[in-house]
Amino acid sequence: MTDLKKDVKYVKGVGPSRVKSLNKLGIYTLGDLVTYFPRDYEDRSQIKKIAEVQDGEKVTIEARAIASVSTRMLGRYKSIEKLMVTDESDNCTITWFNQTYISKQIKRGNTYRFFGKVNVKMGLKEMMSPVFDEIGKSNNTGKIIPAYPLIYEIKPSTMRRIIQNGLELVNDINEIIPDYLVKKYNLMDYNKAIHQIHFPDNFTEFKKARRRLVFDELLAMQLGLLKLKGENRKEVKGIKYDIDVSMSDVINDLPFKLTKAQLRVLEEINEDMESDKPMNRLLQGDVGSGKTIVALISAYKAVKSGYQAVIMAPTMILANQHLENCIRTLGKYGIKCEGLVGGMTAKQKRLALERIESGEADIIIGTHAILEENVVFKKLGLVVTDEQHRFGVKQRSTIVGKGENPDVLVMSATPIPRTLALILYGDLDISIIDELPPNRKKIETVAVSKKMESRVNNFIKEQIDAGRQAYVVCPLVEETENLDNANLISATDLAKKYKDGEFKNYKVECLHGKMRPKEKDEIMQRFKEGQIDILVSTTVIEVGVDVPNASLMVIENAERFGLAQLHQLRGRVGRGEYKSYCVLKYTGNSQNTRERMETMVKTDNGMIVAEKDLELRGSGDFFGTAQHGLPEFKIANLFTDVEQLKEVQALALEITDKDPDLSTSENSRLNKLVKEKFTAKEEITI
Ligand code: ADP
Ligand code: MG
Repeated sequence: MTDLKKDVKYVKGVGPSRVKSLNKLGIYTLGDLVTYFPRDYEDRSQIKKIAEVQDGEKVTIEARAIASVSTRMLGRYKSIEKLMVTDESDNCTITWFNQTYISKQIKRGNTYRFFGKVNVKMGLKEMMSPVFDEIGKSNNTGKIIPAYPLIYEIKPSTMRRIIQNGLELVNDINEIIPDYLVKKYNLMDYNKAIHQIHFPDNFTEFKKARRRLVFDELLAMQLGLLKLKGENRKEVKGIKYDIDVSMSDVINDLPFKLTKAQLRVLEEINEDMESDKPMNRLLQGDVGSGKTIVALISAYKAVKSGYQAVIMAPTMILANQHLENCIRTLGKYGIKCEGLVGGMTAKQKRLALERIESGEADIIIGTHAILEENVVFKKLGLVVTDEQHRFGVKQRSTIVGKGENPDVLVMSATPIPRTLALILYGDLDISIIDELPPNRKKIETVAVSKKMESRVNNFIKEQIDAGRQAYVVCPLVEETENLDNANLISATDLAKKYKDGEFKNYKVECLHGKMRPKEKDEIMQRFKEGQIDILVSTTVIEVGVDVPNASLMVIENAERFGLAQLHQLRGRVGRGEYKSYCVLKYTGNSQNTRERMETMVKTDNGMIVAEKDLELRGSGDFFGTAQHGLPEFKIANLFTDVEQLKEVQALALEITDKDPDLSTSENSRLNKLVKEKFTAKEEITI
């Protein structure tokens, strides 16, 4: 039997330095290695006659070297290698650059397989920098070739070889789901699926392998979710809030009229609060749809019924913003708001803790600091978490544990189609604010290429000179990457460039994830107060901060961001009375990039943006961004695999109905699967 727990260092071709690189990818064991699935495939299996190749096509040809490779040196290090080949249908020139060693590998008269892009000019064919194999020793051609997620330290061909070597060690992996399921759903067996997913014999086999592995993953998730749900659903009695406390008292006093959607959502919340079943509700609404006020009004109801409420935000700056908002909105009803954030002095903190414990504080607003053990409430009745994807399940249950079955409201700006949310969020009821407050001006979005840089800079100046402020967001850049991609710029470099050059007469500051929280908050605070004109940053600013005077959002290398994320970033402007703009600077000109930019320009609806995002890039990236707090999958795609998800969900229900703890011998493999794949991830947010 194969030992999948064996250290990856025993795989042929994996020396100490490769072990390190593999570890960085989370690959420690042989099992990790063979379940490191390809991101994509390239079909190099179909061999084409040279005569049939079209201009620009990427193909495999099988051809004989008519002559030897000729090398022409261009200076000391540069060279061009050329080779003429034929397959009797036609001739083709093969060209490489700076690969002098090739002349030793290719022998005149021998036949090889070449895979690469062919240009046709005036009837003459030329293949550029192909990979090639000697016939019979095929490694890189003649089959479907997997492409693995980008790795900087290991060349793609090396990664393929390592995985192949790993696969050679595993020929009898044990089945991981019950045989009755393999049969019933007509699934490929696990061992075969693991092999076929890397090096499929053909696309039919690939599809079967993928279907099988997706099945495992989705089933583990569904069973795990149902288990959690079962635990949460224990018949508990929650708080019944006072029906005589009317939310309208606050609603009628507001300086603006709530939207219909906000009112509807409040009614749903009110109903939950007045029933004795604990509320477990997800509040979804696009950026700027006005979720905060909904939370505050709910907190009002709780407080006036004699309870305390907590609002938890992911950052200090956001917590402070909510606190100000809370005091402004609810202070006049005699409600005491208390902040609890990381940066308080010991004395401030002690006093705050005392007021929370004595019940003097009614609404407590803060960051993770609220989760600490020494925070004790007198009578906690309502827990609100903002931007819920930043908090894990465990954290949520910690805070909930500080009260006695308090009502819970989790707020999220992440647009997830409703059907999917219903499946994923299992035990939560869902309310959606699907309408923005009126007279919100549309944020004008433009997408520009690098060529327009100076015009963009002038526009930034124009806005600042008119008294506004601007955000400039850069993608996270890995140091290794920066070197060979001249188009990429990191936030720190850009800020420096601005300060020393184009914007030296303006106040430019930089904000990035590596700074200490206190530093970050200070800069954000100064930006809020108008002391900074241009804030250059990474995506650290993406969450709910309100700076009404900021009217311009410039995003560098916009092609690197997910659309949902671009949408979130764009939502940082247009929060005041000023006409606001979002400028997407992109490089590259692929169809995909253009389509994505166009989507952003055309639509300002978060849900449409999210759906388009998935359509265009698949869920790997989408879920990988930690943006969504959804479980991460190695292979399943919650959107494209939605049909399979439904099938599996039904199955999971059926299984749990009969065997809730998965304790029968028939389901013992499932029990193990769920333990391994699901419970390990306590950070997932559901
Ligand atoms: P989000 O849903 O992104 O958290 P916020 O709650 O921060 O949005 O609201 C964005 C802004 O809109 C805030 O300044 C808030 O006061 C304001 N706002 C909320 N509801 C309304 C409304 N019905 N009419 C006008 N402005 C509103
Ligand atoms: Mg918000």
